[in-house]
Amino acid sequence: MSGWRQLSPVLASANEDRLVFECPGCKVKHGIQHGPGTGPRWCWNGSAEKPTFTPSVLVTWSEPSDNPGEFDDTSKDIKRVCHSFVTDGRIQFLSDCTHALAGQTVDLPDWKDDSQ
Ligand SMILES: [Zn+2]
Repeated sequence: MSGWRQLSPVLASANEDRLVFECPGCKVKHGIQHGPGTGPRWCWNGSAEKPTFTPSVLVTWSEPSDNPGEFDDTSKDIKRVCHSFVTDGRIQFLSDCTHALAGQTVDLPDWKDDSQ
């Protein structure tokens, strides 16, 4: 059981207030929460085919250094940023993204359930 429910070629839901899409920059899924409830909430235009989320989706994390000698040194961690606007089924990456699609706008890729 993956728990995903696919809503359209590009969008799935993880539970009733959580939407998940593939990020072509990070090559992972990003999710947002919408509607009433606790925690950060986004507005969703209600379209599964051409979703629009507002405000922007900002995902930050850090990864251990590529240098094995610095692997346990968190001060050497690499900071990753993915900052995007999802509008009408397209994803616009802002220039502060650390991945290769920074500054570009692309279609949301097909959603795939790779959790099994
Ligand atoms: Zn991303």
